[in-house]
Parts: sequence; C-alpha cells; structure tokens
Amino acid sequence: MSAKKGIKKSRLASLRNIGIIAHIDAGKTTLTERILYFSGRIHRMGEVHDGTATMDFMPEEQERGITITSACTTCAWKDHQINIIDTPGHVDFTIEVERSLRVLDGAVGVFCAVSGVEPQSETVWRQSVAYGVPKLAVINKLDRPGADFEAVLAAIREKLRANPVAVTIPVGQGPELAGIIDLVTMERLHFETGGGSGEVRRAALTPAEAELAGPWREKLVEAACEYDEELVTAYLSGDPIDAAALVAAVRRGVIGQSLVPVFAASALKNIGVQPVLDGVLAYLPSPLDREGAVGIDPDTKSAITFPPDTAAPLAALVFKVSMETGRRQVFARVYSGRLEAGKDVYNATRGEIERPARLFHLHAGHREKAEIAEPGEIVAIAGLRRAATGDTLCARETPILLETIAGYKPVISLALEPRNAEETERLQEVLDKLTEEDPTLTLTHDVDTGQMILSGMGELHLDVVLERARREYGVAPRAGKPQVVYQETVTAQGTGEGEFERELGERIHHGKVTLTVSPLPREAGREIVFTIDRQAYPPAWSAAMA
Ligand code: GDP
Repeated sequence: MSAKKGIKKSRLASLRNIGIIAHIDAGKTTLTERILYFSGRIHRMGEVHDGTATMDFMPEEQERGITITSACTTCAWKDHQINIIDTPGHVDFTIEVERSLRVLDGAVGVFCAVSGVEPQSETVWRQSVAYGVPKLAVINKLDRPGADFEAVLAAIREKLRANPVAVTIPVGQGPELAGIIDLVTMERLHFETGGGSGEVRRAALTPAEAELAGPWREKLVEAACEYDEELVTAYLSGDPIDAAALVAAVRRGVIGQSLVPVFAASALKNIGVQPVLDGVLAYLPSPLDREGAVGIDPDTKSAITFPPDTAAPLAALVFKVSMETGRRQVFARVYSGRLEAGKDVYNATRGEIERPARLFHLHAGHREKAEIAEPGEIVAIAGLRRAATGDTLCARETPILLETIAGYKPVISLALEPRNAEETERLQEVLDKLTEEDPTLTLTHDVDTGQMILSGMGELHLDVVLERARREYGVAPRAGKPQVVYQETVTAQGTGEGEFERELGERIHHGKVTLTVSPLPREAGREIVFTIDRQAYPPAWSAAMA
C-alpha cells in the first residue's frame, strides 16, 4: 500500500501543468511546435512508456508521443508528463487566458527579442501574478536583426516588475547568433539546427565564452543565494558552486514567485528549445508543490483549504467545456480528493448533484478511460450535462467553492442574419452550442428586428466564433458591423415609472434601449427609486448590415 502511494507521489511529482503566455507574434506557436517535435522524438526513442490500455487516440499523435485536445496538449520529456494548457494569446481573450491560468501550476512567458515586453504581455503577466502562477521567461527570436537579450531582460524587470535572472545566454545575437551557454553547468550548448534528432551537444567553454558568461553566472549565483544559506557560504568562500544546489535554490525562488529564470532561444532556428523544457522540469512546480484546493464553504462563507491528497475531500474546477466531438465534454482540474466515474458529485456553484459517466486521462500519445482522477490531474469528463466553466465539483458532505472566475462584460456586439430561411433554426442551434462552450459570449435577440445579437470580448473574438460556425458547422450568417456594447446601470429618483421613462427617453435621443425597471418603494412619501439596467444598442442595426 505504502509502496503504491510512493509510486503515485512520484507520478505527481513528474507532472507539470503549464501554460505558454505570450503577446501575439512572439513565437508561441513556433515554440510549442518545436516542443512537441522534440518531445515526440524523445518519446519515440522509448524513454517514457506507461504500457497502459489505450483508446481513442489518433495514430499520428501516438507516434509523436503527444495528445492534443481542445483544452490541453500532453507531451513527455525526460520521464515527466507536461500538460500544456491552451491559453489564447490575443488581448481579446484575456478572460479566457484568465480561466486557464486558474488551473496552471506554472507558465512560460515568451517575449520577442526585438519588440520585447508589449502592453498585452503586461496584462496577461499581471493576471498570472494575481493567480499566483510561477513563471519562466523565454526571450525568443534572438536570430532576428536588432535582437537585444539584455534590453528585454531589463524590460521584464521594469515593465513587469519581475525579478528576472538569466539561466542561459546567447552567444552572439541577430544574424551572429551562434548558440547558447548554460549558466548552471557553464557549458556551451550546440543544437542540431536542422531539427533532426534534436540532440544537444555540450562542450566546455572557450576562454572567450567563459569571459562572456562570467558576469552573468555571478548574477545567477547571487540571485540564488537569496534562497539558500549554504550557497552564500560557498559563494563567499570562493568554493565551487554545486549545480544541483544552484538549481534547487532557483526553484525555491520560482515557486515562491520572487524569481523568474530567463532562457535565450530562437525557436525558428531550433536553438535553445530543449533547455526550456529542462527548465520546466527543473524550476516549475509539480501539483505537489501547490497548496491544493483553496476556497470557501458555500454555506458559512469561511475559508477552507483541502490538501492535494487523494484522502482529502474532493475539489475540482471546470475550466473548459467542449462540444467539438458533438458530445459534451467537460475538462476539469482536480485539486484534492478523488473524482470517480459513475459516482455523484456536487456542483457547489449551481447547488446541483451531477454524475460524471466516464473519465479520460490524458497521456503523452494517448487518452485513456479512467476510473478515478487524482489531485493535480487534468481530466476529461463525459456525462455532465450542466457543469460549466468556472464551476466547482466537490462532495455533497464537504462542500467547497473554489474562487470563481471573474464575471465578464461583453464589449463588442454583432448583428447576425441567416442567409436563407432554412438556415435560421440551424444558426440558432449552432450559436447556442458555441455560447454554451464560451462563457464570454452572449446571444440575445433584437426585439424589433428579430436579429440575433452576438456579443463578446472583442472583434477578433467574434471573428473566431463566426469562423468556427462556418468551418465546424457549415453555417455562414450575414454579419453587421461590430458595435460597441453600451451598458450602464442608472439609479435615479422619480415619482412614477412613466415619468422616469420620459426623462430617460429625452436623455437618449435615438437608439434602442432595453429597460428593466425595478421600482424599489421608498418609505417617505410617494417617491420611488428606480434601478435601471439598460442595454442600448447603437441605432439601426439593419442599416449597419454589410
Ligand atoms: P505567435 O503569434 O506567438 O503564435 O507566433 P508564431 O509562432 O506564429 O510566430 C510569429 C512569426 O514569427 C512567424 O512568422 C514565425 O515564423 C516567426 N518566428 C517565430 N519564432 C521565431 C524565431 O525564433 N526567430 C525568427 N526570426 N522568427 C520567428
């Protein structure tokens, strides 16, 4: 029994749930592709194998040692499982980024070596700090003319108020980029830049390289000293610094979120990618390094924490609902306890009992039907009809509400019309499906024109939704021009409903106003206070149709 528990522990210790966060164009896609390529290679060479029953996998995924779902991509690297949880990069999707940040244990921030820290990266970075997600940073595109590793490092320090420290540095920059120096081992890394087997050769530093790396190494050791007393002693007495102790100290700083190790890379040229993967294992936390479930008792509102332990009460967070296979699949992260197939769970957010019919584990190279899901695991659940993004699943006897995902206010609306009568019902059906998957999307109807009004977080967001409707469901409605959603709550005084509407009508000369008037009787006299939620669309939707 205890031996079994030991195995479990080591499996969790070798799990990383990470996200890659980046400004658009920083190279997130390229980096992810390279990661999958190199990890697929390693997997095929047989380093990692579960030997468990497989099902429902795509042959090429298995061959490559990766599993891709709409919620996350799973790959293997040096006996570890890395779940890369999908985090959309555009500013329109920061809400979506936010909900995925909730379930990450760590993140990799990607920056362009030329354009550096851009405003949108600041937003996402700040969100990740708010959610307590430890991070590594990658300075990518070091092969581009104008690349400046040091300047971007300084921008990470200043604009993001982070404490970055280089763990690898480039040898040359821009067109002169020749490779990478590992500051922990003080070795020169040579990459097979064509891709190929992805082998990384390590070599001793030349005197010139040692001179280049010296000051950087000094900074790394000094930063690590903050987290290890013995390292300070060794450093001050000039003793050689033990690489493992250096890594352990940096890891402590990262997990405590006061240090950000920085990696030099050119994903496009296959330079520096494998050290980032090594860094994910070395520095980012496993589920065991995290607190477990942190939330409140829905009844008493007092704070509760459950440890990341199968013996603790169940707490899991739904972070994605997918209809992509035509069937409703719910992705959840388990924080504590055991989620079991066929056994009722309590949806504390909705106050309802539901039953997960089937569970699927994600592994590198396959998906596997499972009986239980344990703390730290990302699991796909079939059979939950109601659970939505942000909901907490727990046991009825030990209710917990995990911190809920912030509410969203849509900012852009589009009027939609079916192309023909036959499409009407189908369009409604498809939009219902898509809005169910995405809590940042709302669908309403214009009372006068009967048009469907789709609202979301930004123009690109709505573009993506319409593109999906076209590609996945074959409906292509006509769309009007995007309009800014105008929404405000007005509290005012009047002597009657009619009078107040007259006053409001004068203030808003044109446009459609949807009014929900809720009179709150006042004690004194006949005066009434109205709270008005109004949603005003800009004038004439039909005129705005393309
Ligand atoms: P994303 O928008 O962050 O996903 O970025 P992509 O991975 O799509 O990359 C944006 C553009 O930058 C593409 O044209 C890539 O080929 C290019 N790119 C990505 N990584 C590098 C790199 O390391 N060096 C150079 N020169 N270009 C790169």
